[in-house]
Amino acid sequence: MAYQVLARKYRPQRFGDVVGQEHVTRTLLNALEQGRIAHGYIFSGHRGIGKTTIARILAMALNCRTAIGSTSESGSRPTPEPCGFCDSCTEIRAGNAVDVIEIDAATNRGIDEIRELRDAARYRPARDKYKIYILDEAHQITDAAFNALLKTLEEPPDHVVFMMATTQPEDFPQTIRSRCQHFSFHAVKFDDILGQLRSIAGQENIAADDAALALLAEAGDGSMRDALSIMDQAIASAPLVDGKAKLDAEQIRELMGSVPNTVFERLLEAISENQTAGVIEEINTLLNAGNSPAALARQFVRYLRNVLMARIAGEGSELLQVSADERARAARSAVLFSEEDLTRFLQVMLRTFDELNYRQEQRFHLELGLVKLVHLQRLLPVEELLSQIPSSGKPPAGGGALPRTGSSSSTGTASSTRTASPVRSPEPAKPAFSPFETDRNRKADGEGGRPPEPPTVPRALTPLEATARAAETTASKASAPSAVEALEETTAVGVALAEEPAEETETGIIQASSTDLDRIREAVCAALNDKGHNTAAVLLDDGNWSLEGDTIRVEARIKKTMLGLTMNLEAEKIVRNTLRELGVTQKLVVVPGENGAPNANAKPRTAPSGSVQAAALENPLVKQAMDLFGAEVRSVLDLRDKK
Ligand SMILES: [Zn+2]
Repeated sequence: MAYQVLARKYRPQRFGDVVGQEHVTRTLLNALEQGRIAHGYIFSGHRGIGKTTIARILAMALNCRTAIGSTSESGSRPTPEPCGFCDSCTEIRAGNAVDVIEIDAATNRGIDEIRELRDAARYRPARDKYKIYILDEAHQITDAAFNALLKTLEEPPDHVVFMMATTQPEDFPQTIRSRCQHFSFHAVKFDDILGQLRSIAGQENIAADDAALALLAEAGDGSMRDALSIMDQAIASAPLVDGKAKLDAEQIRELMGSVPNTVFERLLEAISENQTAGVIEEINTLLNAGNSPAALARQFVRYLRNVLMARIAGEGSELLQVSADERARAARSAVLFSEEDLTRFLQVMLRTFDELNYRQEQRFHLELGLVKLVHLQRLLPVEELLSQIPSSGKPPAGGGALPRTGSSSSTGTASSTRTASPVRSPEPAKPAFSPFETDRNRKADGEGGRPPEPPTVPRALTPLEATARAAETTASKASAPSAVEALEETTAVGVALAEEPAEETETGIIQASSTDLDRIREAVCAALNDKGHNTAAVLLDDGNWSLEGDTIRVEARIKKTMLGLTMNLEAEKIVRNTLRELGVTQKLVVVPGENGAPNANAKPRTAPSGSVQAAALENPLVKQAMDLFGAEVRSVLDLRDKK
């Protein structure tokens, strides 16, 4: 007999033999037993997981000439499974049954082919009960062709059944989907694939250890056919031992161009120890051995993903579709890092992998990506940084706010620094540093009268940097001023550097007579809120209002580029109309305060009872947040009426 690839040779012939799709086979068996046959089926899912196989078995079961439930000697069929022996079953298996028409929809996708099919469908089956059309890759059918099929699907002749297999069911027109029964296939589980490979190895008389089979199953990545294809290839290249082909893991790895995961375990160990040199040397060895950077990055991404899953869900989780050895390895790597670290690693490596696909100098990009991981590890979480700035002004022992640089043992990693800091300073129950307080202080400074040049926080200085600098200042001063004061100092320095004339953009020209700014502000913001421009309302409400000649100048805390988006034409119109209603003749100009000019006039407004703001303040969660973090409610958006 001619050689057949494993995937075809061991293609299941009964529902019971299909691995990993019990939810589909159970339903179909029940339907067959009850005689509830639909006229359209959609089988969707990843490649190589049994869609076409199940379609064929269903065709066999429908057209099997042995009646369901018969147990006689000649034709035995106690369950709805196809008998496998009658003419229909054997013909369908061989692929030459007259009444089961398999169409590759990828190449027969046009309206002419589908019209032909539709016309042929009207005629009764030649011999069997049903005329069955199996359309493979059915999402490739054009929209026009689908429409030609629509009528037939809606009111099909009794003898017609359509089965459509696809990897992209979302590409089907909704009209088609709603006329079919849709079965979504699962990716085949690692253990199921492994079991099948083991059984096939036994039947084929092949010597294969579990490590080798596990490697094949992993390479299948949820697809039975992929796993079997690689197994075919592995058997073809395997050495013969005592007349038996012998599969071993090393040879399979070579075949797939992959490296053992021990390599990645070592890489992560080096990263956890801040050993940049070790990381680079390791990757150098791999690249010199002829491994492609893209393949390495791809494998590393997969490994990192498994480590992250092991960290999040534990070693025994279903999310890890790998062998027991690999699970243990992933768990070992997982204890070296925090969940945040691993998430960042995965993010960086995914980006690196992406870049490798279209960049020159792949090697450098891979090296850069790996070096980044070492540095990422040294970053401090913001919370930790904030918690290390004491409210009393005492610098933390050892100046712990600086990025950690020291390397520690592989098990302790950086966690030694990390866990130690809360122990050192247990006093502050609240975070010592509150951005609100700084803001309030700034406002209080401006209370006495509007300063000619409002103090501004340069946006170039991120809060993290500002805090870090504040901490440095704190640490270096013997008198130890409070963190907030220190921050003020820092910002004062920043102002001198970042002074920039704000460009004016006129957003509207309005003439008015009244000069009561507060009243205008309230009316304008209320009007904007009413019309759904909450962001614009908050922006103006928070802005710095002043009267200059016949211009009401609002310095909004927003960048110029963003101003146009918030104060769009509609918002401007609302403002203009409101001013007209108030009888205001001045024109209102909104100026972007690039450096975030604070609102010197703003007073803490108390919320009127019954308002949305008051309701928000009464919310227990909000109260708790205010207690815990010293938070305050600045603005409340009412989204209840929004659709
Ligand atoms: Zn049969």
